[in-house]
Formats: sequence, C-alpha cells, structure tokens
Amino acid sequence: MKFKKYLPPLIMWLVFEMIAVTLAFTLDNIFYFFNFSYIGTAIASGLVLYGQKKKYARNAVQFAVGLYMLVYLGVLCRENMQIEGFWYYLFLGVFEAAAIHYVIAKILGPLLFGRGWCGHACWTAMVLDLLPFKTPSAPRRRWGFVRYFVFGASLIFVSLLFIIQVPDKGEIMRQSFIIGNIIYYAVGVALAYKCRDNRAFCKYICPITLFLKPMSYFSIFRIKVDEKKCISCGKCERVCPMDVKVPSNSRKKENATECILCMKCVEVCPKNALKL
Ligand code: SF4
Ligand code: SF4
Ligand code: SF4
Repeated sequence: MKFKKYLPPLIMWLVFEMIAVTLAFTLDNIFYFFNFSYIGTAIASGLVLYGQKKKYARNAVQFAVGLYMLVYLGVLCRENMQIEGFWYYLFLGVFEAAAIHYVIAKILGPLLFGRGWCGHACWTAMVLDLLPFKTPSAPRRRWGFVRYFVFGASLIFVSLLFIIQVPDKGEIMRQSFIIGNIIYYAVGVALAYKCRDNRAFCKYICPITLFLKPMSYFSIFRIKVDEKKCISCGKCERVCPMDVKVPSNSRKKENATECILCMKCVEVCPKNALKL
C-alpha cells in the first residue's frame, strides 16, 4: 500500500529515463541523457514530496525545471526554448533543442500527462504562481482569441527570417528568447493584476496552448471523480485556478483541457472523491 503512492513518480521517472537513453543513442549526444535525466528526476522528486504532503513541492519542481530551462538552456547555452525556437528548428529541418522540447513536453507528452508541463515545469508560470491571485475571483473573459494572434505572430516572425534570408538567424533567435521572455513576464504580471487571476496569461495569451489543449484532451493521467463519494459541495471548483468543471468524468466538461494537474481540487475535497 505504501509503495502505491510512489508508483506515479516511478512511472514518470522511467518515462523520462527512456526518453533520455533513446535520444542520447539515436542523436549520438550524451547531453540528452543528462538533460532528460535531470528533468525526470526533478519531476519525480516533486511527486514524491507531494505524496509526503510537503506544501511547496509543486513550486520546488517549477523552479528546478523552469530555472534550468530558462537560465541554463536559454540564457547560458543560448537556445531559444520558446515557440519561436520550435519554428526555427522546424524550418531548419533538424530535430534539436526546442524542437525536442516541444514534441516531448507540449505535443506528444500531453497524451500521457496532459498539461502537467503547465502545472509543474513552465518557467513563466513558476513566477505567475507566486502572485497573490491564486484563485480567479471573476468569470472568464472572452479574450482567448488573443492566443491565436500570438501564435500566428511567432510563426510569421520566424518565417520572415527565412523568406527574406536574414543573415545570422541564430543570433536573432537567441536575442528574441530574452526579449520574448521579458515581454511574457511583463504581460503575465500586468494581466494577473488586471484580472486578479495569476493564470490569466495562460488562459488568454499563451500561444503554446494551441498544442497543449487539443493533445491534453486525450490525456491518460487526468483528474477523476468517484461520483458515489461526491456530495456536490463545490469546494474543488472554487479552488481551481483554471475554472475547470471538476466533479465530472467527461472529457468534454467545461474547461477540461485547461487542467494543469495542480492537484488543488484533490487536496480540498472533503470526501476524498477526486484522484489522478
Ligand atoms: S499555458 Fe503557457 S505560460 Fe501557462 S503554464 Fe502553460 S506553457 Fe506556461
Ligand atoms: S484544481 Fe484540479 S481541475 Fe483545477 S487545474 Fe488543478 S488539478 Fe486541474
Ligand atoms: S470537493 Fe469533492 S465532494 Fe465537493 S464537489 Fe468536489 S469532488 Fe464533490
């Protein structure tokens, strides 16, 4: 019974180790082994700490993975890990850096762990989650269309670099990573205060949700409710930062693809009716 609570971290760690070994061999680059071993170990450790009911387990993982990707890979190794970096490597026709990151964390990974990236690893959200508006105090605004413009703008920006054959595209990508993140943080914080909602940026602006939402619809890991135990008290919905209609097992429930697996609903349920 005690072992059971360590099963999800063990599975997650093994999945990342498989990715680490596979990429290291197929791309003949030991960096991928250390990279994915580190990320897998950080996430698994966070899940173990969460199982031990440590209060800041999720924030600890966000910083362990987020800072590694933002500071080490982005600033020190000068890789553009944002969506522009994904387009850049796609157009170059090479499976490296941001292209690998996007395929694993944001395109194929969500089939297994939904938007776990958003709840446990994103370097934008690691800061936004520290702001004071942990639970939205007002209904959602109809601003979700903005993300399509941001998505389109990022694609057009990188396409133009190739179409007009700008020299030293690599350097432009490196600088755009820094500038892009400064803009994201500024907009994210301003929007959080305007909407009194830490996750407003995720709901209305983030272009990556165009990958994350459709893929997480099919996620294997997701919050499920035992309808026999549920007393419809509504506590789970009141604490949900993403406005999910929590006590329903339908994949089509309201805001189902917004779930970031933060587990707050599970923690507050008085009947222990929710589980992953
Ligand atoms: S929606 Fe975007 S900004 Fe928000 S956590 Fe997910 S990837 Fe990060
Ligand atoms: S509170 Fe529950 S339903 Fe809402 S995002 Fe977190 S895990 Fe998902
Ligand atoms: S908190 Fe638990 S009991 Fe209350 S509505 Fe949610 S699932 Fe049902």
